[in-house]
This record gives sequence, structure tokens and C-alpha cells, in this order.
Amino acid sequence: MILRIDRLQTELPPPSDPDPNGAAAVQELLGGKFGEMSTFMNYTYQSFNFRGRQGARPFYDLVASIAAEEFGHIELVSTAINTMLTGTADTPPGRGRRGPGAGLPGVRDVRNTHHYLAPGGAAAVVQDSMGHPWTGDNVFSSGDLIEDLTHNFFLETGARSGKLRVYEMVEHPAARALTGYLLVRGGVHQIAYARALENLTGANLMRLFPSPRIPTDRIPECQPHIRRGEHRKLYRFSPSDYLELAAVFNGPHPETGEDLVIAEETNPEGAPAHDLPPQPAVFAPGPDPEEVREIAAKLRDAAGLPKQPTGVVAS
Ligand code: MN
Ligand code: MN
Repeated sequence: MILRIDRLQTELPPPSDPDPNGAAAVQELLGGKFGEMSTFMNYTYQSFNFRGRQGARPFYDLVASIAAEEFGHIELVSTAINTMLTGTADTPPGRGRRGPGAGLPGVRDVRNTHHYLAPGGAAAVVQDSMGHPWTGDNVFSSGDLIEDLTHNFFLETGARSGKLRVYEMVEHPAARALTGYLLVRGGVHQIAYARALENLTGANLMRLFPSPRIPTDRIPECQPHIRRGEHRKLYRFSPSDYLELAAVFNGPHPETGEDLVIAEETNPEGAPAHDLPPQPAVFAPGPDPEEVREIAAKLRDAAGLPKQPTGVVAS
């Protein structure tokens, strides 16, 4: 089962200038063939389908805990997309004019109208950058550990190339913060699968296929994460389980030579999400957000909850 923590794995900036076409490009990192839905569901199904796991425990623990991290990555990409779409549909229905900031008429010519029309909500969709829905055909779970780990290594390789392309294509601060973090974490996963294969077969994929060559040391948005050691650390994402990661995730980092480590903490400290404002033009969270707020306040009062919401959001 999954334990859920109401924080993002890393801090993302608050909404600024909306960028719906940039958000459409970022969709590739969510629902593209090499996006976070693919990494998440690949490792999740490989862990669900894993046979003989006790005998292969360090490998099972590796795939299962990286799967849990990928859940947080689909959350991060979705949050970045929603941040970039904020402000495009904040004009109440029927009052839109033409031009930027004009509500729905202003987004008629955007790349992905599904963000507003179907399902709508000025919200992330489980699609790639061309609007194709993500499909389970992107999941490779063969049952053969060496085959699966090899697939995972190349999946992380393609995912990092995609992140660098989106980084260069989209300048919005939310997209840059997102890709800066994911480039660093994807590097850890790439190394993790390469180390697992090397420990299993002796083949060193990082040496055979030194790709992609991504200069994270020269990307400003990667630096805070590298300074915190996020480029060489794997998390268990469990208070008491998945204790055997160190049996396969070990040795020197192939680029920096530093030791690879298993985090003592269960999960990244992360940061609370910003409370993204209602977008009334698309009825999110309803045609009258104030009405929802009043009903929730009454229910909270009747349940004996404190006046202020207990959850934490960024200011
Ligand atoms: Mn990921
Ligand atoms: Mn990954």
C-alpha cells in the first residue's frame, strides 16, 4: 500500500504569467511515452508482478521504492502544468473578452484546448504534448528481471533527454524548477538501474551507453538539489520497509566519484504546494467557489474541527 504525504517532493514557484502553450509542452513529461506516468506505472507493475521477491529482495526493494518516488513526480509535473495554466480562465463565464487574461475567449487558440474544454478545469490531463492519451501499452513488465531492469535504464535515459528538451523549450519558472529537479532525480534512477544490472550481470551500462550527456552542473535550476546531495541519494519511501536497497545501490557516482547513499530519512523533505486559486471560467472548483467554501466551513464546524484548515499550503 502507499502512504501519502501532503507535500510536493520539491518546491515549485507560485503562479506568475500564464503560459498555456508551455503547459502543453510540459504535458510530454506527464503523459508522454517517456513521461512520469510511464516511469511510475512501469515500476509499479514490475513490483506488483515480481515473483520470487524474497530471493531477489534487494532488486524488488529497488524497483518498489523508485515506483513510489515516481508517484510524487506525476504530482510535481501536474502541479507545474496547473501553475502555468493559472490566470487563463479566471474571468467568470460570459464576461470574457478577446486577448490575454480574457478568460476562455483568450485561450481559443492554445495548443491543447482539453485543458479548458474536456475534461477542462484549467488542469493537467493524462496526455502527451500532442494531446494523445497516456496508454498502458507504455508499460513493460516482462517478469524477467534483467529484461525489466534494462528497459528501466533506457526509460530513464529517454526521460532525461525529454526533460532537457522541455527545459530548453519552455522558460516559465515553474517548468524550469520542475525540470531542474527531475533531471537530478532521473540521474539517480538511471544510475540505480545501471548499478542493479552491473551487480546482477557484470555489464556496466553507464560505460557501454554514456548517454544522455546532460551537464547538470551547468544548469542553474539543478544546483540547489546537487548541493543537498539529491544526485546520489535514494529514498525508501517507507517508515520500516525496503531496507535492502544498499545491496545494489552502492559504489561511486559514475560522474562525480562520490559515494552513492541510501537516505536515512524515508522521503525528501519537500515543500507544501501553493493553493492554486479558483478558475471560475471553467467551474473549478465550481460555478460559485464561495458556496463550496461556505459548505465546507459548516461541515468542518459540525465535525468539531478547528476554524483554520489543518492542512498546510505555501503562503
Ligand atoms: Mn520521474
Ligand atoms: Mn525516474
